[in-house]
Amino acid sequence: MRRLPIYFLIDISESMVGEPIQQVEEGLATIIQALKTDPHALETVFVSIIVFAGQPKTLVPLQEIVSFYPPKFPVGSGTSLSKGLGHLMYELRNNIVKTTYEVKGDWKPIVFLFTDGVPTDNSQAAINEWKENWQRTANLIAVSFGNETDTKLLGQLTENVLHFKNTNVQSYKEFFRWVTDSIKTSSISVENNSSGFELAKLEGETLSKIDLTKAEPIRQYVDDNYVVLNGKCQNSKRPYLMKYRKTIAPSIYAGVELSSKNYKLVGAYQVDNSYFELADESTFNTTVNTEELTGFPTCPCCGNQIAFAVCVCDKIHCIGDEEISTCPWCHNQGSYGYGEGGFDVSRTQG
Ligand SMILES: [Zn+2]
Ligand SMILES: [Zn+2]
Repeated sequence: MRRLPIYFLIDISESMVGEPIQQVEEGLATIIQALKTDPHALETVFVSIIVFAGQPKTLVPLQEIVSFYPPKFPVGSGTSLSKGLGHLMYELRNNIVKTTYEVKGDWKPIVFLFTDGVPTDNSQAAINEWKENWQRTANLIAVSFGNETDTKLLGQLTENVLHFKNTNVQSYKEFFRWVTDSIKTSSISVENNSSGFELAKLEGETLSKIDLTKAEPIRQYVDDNYVVLNGKCQNSKRPYLMKYRKTIAPSIYAGVELSSKNYKLVGAYQVDNSYFELADESTFNTTVNTEELTGFPTCPCCGNQIAFAVCVCDKIHCIGDEEISTCPWCHNQGSYGYGEGGFDVSRTQG
């Protein structure tokens, strides 16, 4: 039986922390569950999951559906599309069986790329390599989670760039049903010896194809749509992330219309130490002023009242009502007062 390899290449940068990553985790689980009950898919479909932030990682090596168990998704710092693509191409080179005179090889692999932001590094070399070596031998579908993706860049990889409006739980359900249906129809069409690639019909507003002739390029190496700050819990020593989303508020100042940029708290989330493994070693020194931030959370690890204390080492940690606090990063001890006005804090690449 010839295999139909399905690769998921998933952006797990910090902007995905919270609901998106949780929904992707559940979505992948429902896809596998549905495919397990589909006789065509069960026979032909093999699945692999690759994640990327600042670093890439194979979360699930290519394997048949029967023995597949849905993984937990980590979160990392940065969005290195070039490393993600590079790792994908490495996996394809090593795992895809080519057709020879003796052996019938695999069907054309299908790659679903999910990303919600802008690469934090230069992706051009990896994109060129994809175009040269894989564009004709694999089918890639790039899905932009939300409005803030560089669709022009994704358009260099594939004609299939889709916009997914990830507005609520229902939209995630519809989206993952579409992915499941696309895999099912593809597994049937390979059996009939046709192209072996057939996306399910797009219905409703949730998912739409992007007109690439109209897409605008975005050039930036920090994902500006979110501010994500990395703290460490003083009690549990575990890292956490505080995520803020950009809002542009129109304001009128002395009769002049201005728009002021502000970041509103989305939430605070506990992450594990794989966060550091998946981060880019060369973190940029970018800061955000606290006056641009609205909302300060409690510590998601221990419940301490203030998750946003900044040590003299410039790192963030939580504080409670203890008199003397110990910084979990540099072990400096001190007591904290409330700062006056705004100050700059280091932010991650997003
Ligand atoms: Zn804490
Ligand atoms: Zn410190």
